[in-house]
Amino acid sequence: MIAGILKESGGEKRVALLPGETALLVKLGLKVLVEAGAGEGAFASDGQYVAAGAAVAGRNEVIREAGLLLTVNPPAGEDIMVFREGQVIFTVLDPVTNREWLEKARARNLSVMALDLVPRITRAQSMDILSSMATVSGYKAVLEAASLLPRFFPMFMSAAGTIKPARVLILGAGVAGLQAIAMARKLGAVVEVFDVRSAVKDEVKSLGGKFIEVEGAREDAAAGGYAVEQSEEFRKKQQELIQERASAADVIIATAQIPGRKAPVLVLKETVERMRPGSVIIDLAASSGGNCELTENGTAVITNGVTIAGRSDYPSVMSADASKMFGNNLVNLLRIMTDSKGDFRIDLTDEIIAGTMAVHGGEYQSQRVKQILDIKLT
Ligand code: NAD
Repeated sequence: MIAGILKESGGEKRVALLPGETALLVKLGLKVLVEAGAGEGAFASDGQYVAAGAAVAGRNEVIREAGLLLTVNPPAGEDIMVFREGQVIFTVLDPVTNREWLEKARARNLSVMALDLVPRITRAQSMDILSSMATVSGYKAVLEAASLLPRFFPMFMSAAGTIKPARVLILGAGVAGLQAIAMARKLGAVVEVFDVRSAVKDEVKSLGGKFIEVEGAREDAAAGGYAVEQSEEFRKKQQELIQERASAADVIIATAQIPGRKAPVLVLKETVERMRPGSVIIDLAASSGGNCELTENGTAVITNGVTIAGRSDYPSVMSADASKMFGNNLVNLLRIMTDSKGDFRIDLTDEIIAGTMAVHGGEYQSQRVKQILDIKLT
């Protein structure tokens, strides 16, 4: 079986596999064909792919020859119409945004392994691309906040007087939020944290953050560890408490998300107006609507002296290490789909494969994709 690595488009700097991880795939017994220039944005040359055991070709040849297509984002434009029946596309699907693309893939009898749907179970931890990319985002968000803030993060006692440590408010303590807590603490900030899942309380404390509890949060064991939408009454109470904490904060790192839904609005316009000029909000939920009412996806706006950066692209900015993590997770997934002779197989009795396979054989497959897209469950 040939695995094809496609070059990304639209400003995406990552690549699905770097040469180091390509060598691991070759070791599994797969042949690898790389689109010329695919690794450029992540600082990998065609020559390095060849040295890793891959061949380099033009896009059309990769699409024609490969049975498996590996890509970070679903290929844009008309590519979907030239993929051939039976081809398996491994990509971060984002099913809500790419609903139409997925429908075309189903209708054309393609198989789509949605890397953002890998079940969050222990056996699949090494394949969890969402966690890897959230780790990158949480890390980079704090560094960007520190560089935009016109104040120090750590406390300073110097001959020029004492500088108080920065106060960082983190909204959402999932993978990105926990990484942001750790980074902000490393830089010496005082950190406060909101989340609706009480399970994260101890993790927040162990990282040195203060967990602020809002009573009455709705939790659902059936949501698989994810947050669910909250009542109007809870939302109001939470917004008030966030407003109180935000007016004392120098930085807000917003990461709160609900899978398949618009991100909850936690920071209102009037909250921003009460923040100290010079403060910074980094909104990692920007692509799903943002946690701040004033967030604009993909850009930074300044209101009342407060910078609000709507960023969802940190993994692309950190293209080298983000691609390395992406590739390692992807190879680990391909490992369970390849037998000892290097033959690729789709075993839908394996819960990881069944949960990740969005469409296959002309049908919607993964229960999560059906749930997110509200397709009748079977
Ligand atoms: P996410 O990106 O879906 O959301 C980020 C955080 O925002 C979550 O902690 C969520 O509870 C929080 N949030 C949502 N609405 C909120 C609101 N109104 N106010 C405050 N906070 C709000 O989360 P994620 O990082 O993808 O993690 C989701 C879950 O998956 C977590 O339980 C995590 O521990 C779990 N997980 C498990 C594994 C594994 O077992 N393999 C791997 C990674 C993550």
